[in-house]
Amino acid sequence: MQVTVHGGVSKHEWQARLDLAAAYRAMALYGWDDLVFTHLSARVPGRGDHFLINPYGMLFEEITASSLVKIDLNGDKVLNSPYEANPAGFIIHSAIHGARADAACVVHLQTTAGVAVSCQASGLLPISQQAMFVLPGLGYHDYEGVAIEPDERQRLVDDLGGGHSLILRNHGVLTCAQSVADAFMLSYVLQRACEIQLQAQAGGGHFADVAPDVIGSVRRTGEHAMRDAGGSLVWPGLLRKLDRIDASWRL
Ligand SMILES: [Zn+2]
Repeated sequence: MQVTVHGGVSKHEWQARLDLAAAYRAMALYGWDDLVFTHLSARVPGRGDHFLINPYGMLFEEITASSLVKIDLNGDKVLNSPYEANPAGFIIHSAIHGARADAACVVHLQTTAGVAVSCQASGLLPISQQAMFVLPGLGYHDYEGVAIEPDERQRLVDDLGGGHSLILRNHGVLTCAQSVADAFMLSYVLQRACEIQLQAQAGGGHFADVAPDVIGSVRRTGEHAMRDAGGSLVWPGLLRKLDRIDASWRL
């Protein structure tokens, strides 16, 4: 039985734990988990060098606010926990958290659709509204093997630049944002864009052209829409949905 850490952490850390645990549950709900692999991480508010990440070996559908492991930029635990973090998995996250003060949450997924588009040389195509929303902040990072070498961090950061999303070629996708809610929203739209592209390609035929000036205006509108909709509109509804299914993520 997991012992709650509610009384032993700051109010802000507890809120970050709730949000991140909810994001893990939501990823499982939509089928975007990958057994115990891939990871979502959140910066502990007020502690730029402390982060919350999944207890390695726990299914995303089992994760609770208290079971999240608190680690530093090296992946070492900074709060006693019966669980271990996955230090190798944190290479990707530590790179982004360490370089981008605005990256409060980093989401890395290896969904089938995300990996499939990451395998395509042309990457994400501007064929759907969802893709056009994401494209302005999307970069690409070439595959270097399993990301366990610390020196890959700088190349990840360079490839992300000032953007919010990365396609990790032959591997998966990554998004980052100022809140867990916004990172979830970005991941959702990117995932949908990947699914739509694959289905459109599987359906065959030529894609309808979108005029360059229309693509430009959708890109500008989309960035604002995603930012506005994430935390304020989508997230509270998603939390209510999670509570109706199984509110144990709040433990
Ligand atoms: Zn991965």
